[in-house]
Amino acid sequence: MTTVDVRLDPPYRVTIGAGALAQAAQHCAAYSKVALVADRRVIELHGSQLGDLSQAPCLEIVGGEAAKRFGPLAQVLDFFAAEALDRQSVVVTLGGGTIGDLGGLAASLYKRGIAVVHLPTTLLSQVDAAVGGKTAINLDAGKNLVGTFHQPSAVIADTATLSTLDAVDWRSGLGEVVKTAIIAGEEQLAFLEQSAALLRARDPRAIDEVVALCVRAKAAVVADDATERGPRRSLNLGHTFAHGIEHAASFDAVPHGLAVAVGLRLAVRASARVGLLEAPNLETRLVNLLVQLDLPTSLAELEALSTQDGSAAERVLDGMAHDKKGAVGTPEFVLPLRPGELRLGVPMERADLLEILRSV
Ligand code: NAD
Repeated sequence: MTTVDVRLDPPYRVTIGAGALAQAAQHCAAYSKVALVADRRVIELHGSQLGDLSQAPCLEIVGGEAAKRFGPLAQVLDFFAAEALDRQSVVVTLGGGTIGDLGGLAASLYKRGIAVVHLPTTLLSQVDAAVGGKTAINLDAGKNLVGTFHQPSAVIADTATLSTLDAVDWRSGLGEVVKTAIIAGEEQLAFLEQSAALLRARDPRAIDEVVALCVRAKAAVVADDATERGPRRSLNLGHTFAHGIEHAASFDAVPHGLAVAVGLRLAVRASARVGLLEAPNLETRLVNLLVQLDLPTSLAELEALSTQDGSAAERVLDGMAHDKKGAVGTPEFVLPLRPGELRLGVPMERADLLEILRSV
């Protein structure tokens, strides 16, 4: 097992490795009561790995964006009350990012906040969502508009659970892996390049190493800026473009991580366009890596965007105006200078953006 400590106050530990779920019960031993909020599919597939935790009361939820709504939130809170959880109890979430976001939000609200332990079971949630304490549900007006910061007490990422992930969810997670490696630096990006073929083949050892690499990188960023007032915004690399793509394709048609993959390439182009890019080979390296990982490299490859009239670039541009990270109508960009070095909050001219979007 690999462990990574997230150096916040209080600190918490992320345990990564095949079979780690068996350790979950011991992380909960000190609490008065334990309640599970679990993805129904994951309980069916991996519930038997939970050891003593499988005896705990469990609310099963169907994983996916539909879980991140007020209805399921109320259901989870009612479940906590029915189980008479108190301030000394712990909530355990088992599933992908949607279950972690929902269960984490409910834990942060119930009795003004009780402990939560995350057991992430998708690649995206292991490398990103489960670490850092962001929780959220969606509104009709947009994704993740209602949420809190509530750090977990522990995160246990059992990489063996990833074996049952379907191809779309696997590739979607890989998009965030590439993002994280570029943010982390040259050493991490080079490691990912070397591991790409094994990772694509879902080699267990490569998966463990890459999940650990991403968790270390995210833990370092989060420890510097727990509430995203400054450097943590670097984690949005590629995301302004990605949100534009998702908006243009009317959400869910393009999996988030695939939009991020194309968004990363667009961010590198944008960086070159405004004269910030210091690593001229970064685009070539990125494209090679995306291809090796079976990820898209251009808008044209995203089927949900393709129309006869070729207006994808315009639609993505319009979609970016809805990005929640910048002020209304003025999207801001995180642009890479080179691996490990980013510029935050860069404004871009509309004409430049359109040209960049039309160029890939
Ligand atoms: P998800 O939770 O919807 O899981 C994707 C699918 O995989 C679901 O159908 C689920 O049932 C299934 N699944 C989960 N684990 C499985 C397993 N081991 N085997 C087989 N199937 C399995 O989605 P996700 O991609 O994990 O997470 C996306 C969500 O995470 C989004 O809502 C996003 O906003 C959120 N997110 C949050 C943060 C954060 O910091 N809190 C960061 C990134 C993303």
